Amino acid sequence: MSTHETDAEPSERIQGANTREQVLATVGLISVHAENVHIEAMRHGRHDLELDIDRILAATRDLTDRVEQLIGAGTQAIWSIGGLNPAAQQALRHELRTPLNAIKGYGEMLQEDLASLRGTPLQAAVEHLVSAANDLLTLFDHMVALSVRKSHPGAIGEEAIPPVVSDKPQRSPRDRDTSSTTVQSGTILIVDDNEANRDLLSRRLTRNGYRVSMAVGGQAALDALTEADFDLVLLDLMMPDINGLEVLQRMKADVRLRMVPVIMITASAETDSAIHCIEAGAEDYLPKPFDPVLLRARIGACLEKKRWRDREQDYLRRLEAHAKDLQESLKQQTATSELLKVIGRSIFDLRSVFNLLVEYCVKLCESEHAFILRFDGRVLRLVADHNVLPDMKAYVERHPITPGRGSGAGRAVLERCTIHIPDIRNDPEYAYYGTLAVPLRTVLSVPMLRGDEVLGVIAINRHEVRPFTDSQITLMETFADQAVIAIENVRLFEEVQARTQELAHSVAELKALGEVSQAVNSTIDLETVLATIVANAVQLSDTDGGSIYVLHEASGEFEPRSTYGMDEAVIAGFKAKPIRIGDKTVVDQATVQRVAVQIADVHHDDASRVHDLILRAGFRALLTIPLLGADRIVGALVVRRKRPGEFPKKTIELLQTFAAQSVLAIQNARLFHEIEKKSRELEVASQHQSQFVANMSHELRTPLAAMLGYAELLQEGIYDALPEKSLPILGRIESNGKHLLGLINTVLDISKIEAGQFKLNLAEYALGTIVETVLVATESLAATKKLAFNIEIAKGLPYGIGDEQRLTQVLLNLVGNAIKFTDAGEVRIAAAAANGHFELSVSDTGPGIPPEERERIFEKFRQVDGSNTRAKGGTGLGLAIAREIVEMHGGRIWVESTMGQGSTFRMELPMRAAAAGAT
Ligand code: ADP
Repeated sequence: MSTHETDAEPSERIQGANTREQVLATVGLISVHAENVHIEAMRHGRHDLELDIDRILAATRDLTDRVEQLIGAGTQAIWSIGGLNPAAQQALRHELRTPLNAIKGYGEMLQEDLASLRGTPLQAAVEHLVSAANDLLTLFDHMVALSVRKSHPGAIGEEAIPPVVSDKPQRSPRDRDTSSTTVQSGTILIVDDNEANRDLLSRRLTRNGYRVSMAVGGQAALDALTEADFDLVLLDLMMPDINGLEVLQRMKADVRLRMVPVIMITASAETDSAIHCIEAGAEDYLPKPFDPVLLRARIGACLEKKRWRDREQDYLRRLEAHAKDLQESLKQQTATSELLKVIGRSIFDLRSVFNLLVEYCVKLCESEHAFILRFDGRVLRLVADHNVLPDMKAYVERHPITPGRGSGAGRAVLERCTIHIPDIRNDPEYAYYGTLAVPLRTVLSVPMLRGDEVLGVIAINRHEVRPFTDSQITLMETFADQAVIAIENVRLFEEVQARTQELAHSVAELKALGEVSQAVNSTIDLETVLATIVANAVQLSDTDGGSIYVLHEASGEFEPRSTYGMDEAVIAGFKAKPIRIGDKTVVDQATVQRVAVQIADVHHDDASRVHDLILRAGFRALLTIPLLGADRIVGALVVRRKRPGEFPKKTIELLQTFAAQSVLAIQNARLFHEIEKKSRELEVASQHQSQFVANMSHELRTPLAAMLGYAELLQEGIYDALPEKSLPILGRIESNGKHLLGLINTVLDISKIEAGQFKLNLAEYALGTIVETVLVATESLAATKKLAFNIEIAKGLPYGIGDEQRLTQVLLNLVGNAIKFTDAGEVRIAAAAANGHFELSVSDTGPGIPPEERERIFEKFRQVDGSNTRAKGGTGLGLAIAREIVEMHGGRIWVESTMGQGSTFRMELPMRAAAAGAT
């Protein structure tokens, strides 16, 4: 055995013997108190405490047996010596302590349970029991401390201040423990190979409201830790399989377990090891036997720390998520603005907007692929895609999606809202891909809406079940809005362009029509007009060639009068095969039916005589507009196009206008030719007539002159004297003859004027002489009518140059008329000169001439209508001849008159006539 025994001092031996006595006595006391507790509990009928009391009794028996073995009669030597050998120390630490801890632990729990029964014998018995157990523990501690001091004098260690002692001030008075039943949260794993320890801890912690699991050893603990989450592990240091330190080390090496806090359970003498454990990452340690207050405090602190740590972790996670969100939204904003830029640029190019959009969808929403589908009111068709698997794409192209609940996109159209399907395999209605094996799981479809109208759908999909986040859904909705903006932009742009084109076209049409009208109105050359019409018709109808045919009524043949855009060979070909009424060509059909006839594709039309010619010339479509007069067919306008296809209604209407213009031009030309012909004929006839009148007048004058001459001779009695009575008869013959001569002269003058043969004989004359001659010739006539005759001739009038005889004729006519139409009053002749002109006037006090007649009386055969004029006789030619003569002198003649007061005829004659008609 150990040398300690022999080295023992006598005083220590005495102390050892005392200690043994004390231990035995205390153990005996514990037995008595335990028995007492049992009896009192039964007496109080507290069967609920029976289980704990049984445990206390069992532990008491265990303790008594062990003490009996250790310090019975045969073991006295060990206890008599001062220092404890290692075996004795081990025994004190473990073998005796285990039952003693159980007694103390269960006893303390009974104390708590019975706190309200203070002063009763049961409560007092429990108090005594716990107190005895504590005394025994203190005794053991002293013994261990003594033996350590003995074997390691001066050693400084935790053992010098036994934890039980150091914890003593914190020991709870019972009332401090009233909160023990407060419900705590947390899941705790208890790891201990000692069943009593496990049980005690478990009951205490459950009582404190924790959820508790237990493991009997190190391996079981590690297994439990991988299976469930724990907030705390209470880990016994000494275990047979894997000891507590190793379990701790393994936990700290495992990232998943590293954060789970661990409190080591140690025997009071294992403080050294406990420090190792704390260095290895344990949060704290708890010495056995468990002080309930310390237990609660340490576990509480540890769990609180864990909660803070969890909260911190959670906060960090949230921060990280927030940072990620921020980063994501920055990315989204960048993408959105970039997209807007592209939309701004790509008015002409919707495709590149869509392509960019699907690319962003995939990038920013963490989806495997993306689609854009356009809705045509019936089905959705694929217009852009990114990363779509080839067989899926082919499937979508072959099976246009219809509105309905069977697909994400179809559902989005139907519901007009965003459709998010977290897992299509859990969606009983999803059926789009049928039997095609697709890796699709999570699907998001966003409709592109303009008002209530669906323009299309943007869809993104994932190959795993991972629902899209709110911010991703919002982003997709923004993208859909932007797609709508892009589509709208393109639509508006195209509309504006179409309007602009329409306007430009209208302007062009108006210009062309203006040009054609101008040609029709200003050109009598039919060829020029028709060429203008056919050129404009072809250009405006967007065709390649055209002709205008004019119908010859006599032959029934349509003659191509004007062509545009057709080469000579083709024109010659057409001419070689003339088109006729009744030959069933389009021209014939159009004119007979009086409607526009078109052939959209000559290829598909039954061959007519000219079709091969048209096809050879490269034309595929043609349009014929009939040219129709009021009562007859005029011809046809034909345009031909190299591209097949129907002609738009607008083109037909436009060409109808051109056709109407053509008819006008052709009829104008016809009329013009007719008029031209007639006037040529008339001119010839009129010339003949004038010639005839001139000849006749001349021929009439000769015999009349002879007759007048003979009558004069008879009057003068050159022949035998005639009976007195016959003389007045001869006078009348003479005056009538002279009147007739005057008439003939007048007619001769007029016909000369009309035949352009009227000439002036210019010579010097004196105006006074002319006035004098006229006065002499008319004086007697005025006197017969009792009219005053006044002459006012300015003095010193110069000589003039002109035809004296013709000017005398003019003045004679004016004065003759004045006397003829005036019944009372006077006739006045005035002559003066001013500014190189002679001013000559003849005034009367006759009836006057109405204003509307004042110009017309100068026309041929014109007389003021009325009985007066007719009664006065006359030819109505005098003033016409007078004006001709005056104008031939370069002068003018006009009348001023006041009805009922008289008329004044005025002349203005250049003094020196330089008339064109002068000889
Ligand atoms: P005529 O006198 O031979 O009919 P004119 O040419 O000389 O032909 O005159 C034309 C018409 O003018 C006359 O018929 C008459 O009605 C009108 N007229 C001419 N002179 C006068 C006048 N001094 N007073 C009224 N009417 C006149």
